[in-house]
Amino acid sequence: MTAAETYNHCIEVAIPLYLDRAFHYRVPEHLRNTALTGHRALVPFGNRKLTGYILGPAVDSGIADLKEIIEVLDSEPLWTAGELEFYRWVAAYYQHPLGEVVRTALPAGINIQTRKGASGAQGALTGGKTTLREKFYLPGPTIAPPRQSGPKAQEILAFIIETGDVSAGELRKRFGTCTPQLSRLCELGLCAVENREVYRDPFKDQTVNRDEPRLLHTHQKAALAAVAISLDNRQFSPFLLYGVTGSGKTEVYLQAISHALEQGRNALVLVPEIALTPQLTGRFQARFGGGLAILHSGLSDGERYDEWRRIRRGLARIVIGARSAIFAPLENIGIIIVDEEHEASFKQSDGLRYNARDLALVRGKMEQAAVVLGSATPSVTTVHAAGEGRLTLLELPERVEGRPMPLVELVAMKGNKETISAPLSNSLSETYQQGKQAIVFLNRRGFATFLVCAECGKPLTCPNCSVTLTYHRQRRQSLCHYCDYAVPAPGTCPACNGTTLSELGAGTEKLEHDLKELLPAARIFRMDSDTTSGKGSHGRLLSRMNDGSADILVGTQMIAKGHDFPEVTLVGVVNAEASLGMPDFRAAERTFQLLSQVIGRAGRGENPGRVVVQAIDPGHYAITSAAGHDAEGFYRQELEFRREAGYPPFAFLAAFAISGLSEQAVGDQADVTARTLIQLKSELKVRVEILGPAQSPLYRLRNRFRRQILLKASNRTDLHRLITVWRQRATIVSTVRISVDIDPVDMM
Ligand code: ADP
Ligand code: ZN
Repeated sequence: MTAAETYNHCIEVAIPLYLDRAFHYRVPEHLRNTALTGHRALVPFGNRKLTGYILGPAVDSGIADLKEIIEVLDSEPLWTAGELEFYRWVAAYYQHPLGEVVRTALPAGINIQTRKGASGAQGALTGGKTTLREKFYLPGPTIAPPRQSGPKAQEILAFIIETGDVSAGELRKRFGTCTPQLSRLCELGLCAVENREVYRDPFKDQTVNRDEPRLLHTHQKAALAAVAISLDNRQFSPFLLYGVTGSGKTEVYLQAISHALEQGRNALVLVPEIALTPQLTGRFQARFGGGLAILHSGLSDGERYDEWRRIRRGLARIVIGARSAIFAPLENIGIIIVDEEHEASFKQSDGLRYNARDLALVRGKMEQAAVVLGSATPSVTTVHAAGEGRLTLLELPERVEGRPMPLVELVAMKGNKETISAPLSNSLSETYQQGKQAIVFLNRRGFATFLVCAECGKPLTCPNCSVTLTYHRQRRQSLCHYCDYAVPAPGTCPACNGTTLSELGAGTEKLEHDLKELLPAARIFRMDSDTTSGKGSHGRLLSRMNDGSADILVGTQMIAKGHDFPEVTLVGVVNAEASLGMPDFRAAERTFQLLSQVIGRAGRGENPGRVVVQAIDPGHYAITSAAGHDAEGFYRQELEFRREAGYPPFAFLAAFAISGLSEQAVGDQADVTARTLIQLKSELKVRVEILGPAQSPLYRLRNRFRRQILLKASNRTDLHRLITVWRQRATIVSTVRISVDIDPVDMM
């Protein structure tokens, strides 16, 4: 028997379940030409049929009674050998089953297509031709529907005439089953059917103007040159592009990408939340036109799958997307860019808890690519790595055209009950009178922070989560921001039935209300997740700022990021220390970053900006450094704190989250887990600090009780060994869930 034959007889398959190993299957005669590496196969598993991923030939196929695969689901491979190597790395590092990693890496839409195909409802979709969609269109000029076709057929035809070209799916959605009518219409020659490969274009409604590369300033030139040299050498080179807001980082990305494209290599661009950065994607489109694939969270599964196929087939050479784009099937990558690399949203918070920022370095290394981590406020870990020379530091220390950084005034609010202080209200009036724009930032949505009963003194809390309910005046609801529990508001006190509920603290809704009282003639708008849930509403608010039809924009951190409003000369910050109180060792880092970003929104155009920052006690170094544009000072102090407390980047962390509906079961399981870890630690002689079990800061969430154990180690190998062995030995009761988060970001 030749090697190829053995290969075809017995294969190794990864299954997307929480199982730490791959399985062997036999390939029946008729599937031997198609059951190849990179394809999915339908396999029997227990008494179920599951989709598995063919990893390759099985090494030892000594078992006689192996089960046979049922069907091969693809006609083309879904991943390359290089991508499989990457998946394996991810599985090992995050200690996650390979099958689950592959499932996470592939687009969700792929499974929908298979289900359709398997059902046999759409003949054209079976046999692995999952990329075709039936389309109905008019063969000639518009014709009147003849009567003999029946009323439903006439309605359908009228619809086809109106749209000119419509998919079978769309017709079914509208008219229900319509196969008989459609065949009748086709028979009569009134419409025609065609299997057409359709890529839905999520940006088809947008028009873009082409834009030309700008003449770079000195610092941009130096940065670009460094990246270009590494591209020419085809060596893995990681960079930190550290540039204040408005210093021209995006222009460097664009020109570095051009350089990679000229060499025939491709580019991957990761951004924190693409739906919130239409300006950035717009600039990429303007520069590169087609050949761009944009993967954003607003895409339907089908649209995402279409983009995925375009990339897989080499039709897109630049891919822009949020964290999951790190798994984009882009080959021959020359450069990976991670914009706003400090953002927490690069970390996936459930399932495979990967960090796309970290994986960019891993994939870049495998591809011998340049990796550019860009930020105005890099993470403390990144700054440390650059300091140690593990990343090459590229600095853009000045704003484009020497625009000055805004002047910042700190206002201490201790003892002051107002939402808007006198200095801020004066500045707002002045800015309004000058016909300039302002942004006011408060990182809390809703009207009041919460309602408190005047009779018993208790705040309104969520029955499912250990948090207070936020009072939303417009919606007349008190709302849980974690589980969406809602009660009519103000309502009555659930504890004592008291009817006098008073408002405590302020959210963006209240801020908007107060601003309208302060400046009744001003055009004031609010941007937070309450006002941007409708499709296009976010974009409309941004265009109001851009075309000057808004004077003041109030909002949460949504207004802090990435926007370039040249007419904004004033930024107000309300309650600057809101994020400092979080029980998280990164609280100071987050506060500094957020404040610096918001401050950076002022004075990006020709007119200099100023900022008023309100804080109860503005003395914390996260606030004073952001206000003084003293990033160096902040990182120095923060790194000192991390070193002393033994936190990243001076230690590696893993968090065990233990949760369940029964408080008792969760408590018991947490104790057992901690004891096992302590025992294994001494058995394996690893140096790992085991903290907890403790209640998670958010002890109850969506009805589940939550405890956590934090592992800390100065040596990654020790940490991983302990977790690996724990996985092999652990006994977990079925009512409790344990997840292990490597390099956790969310400590709540
Ligand atoms: P960042 O990404 O660092 O916030 P941008 O790349 O958005 O900065 O640049 C800020 C503004 O300056 C943008 O409007 C951009 O078009 C412009 N700009 C960038 N580089 C140059 C340059 N070399 N010459 C002129 N304008 C530039
Ligand atoms: Zn809740």
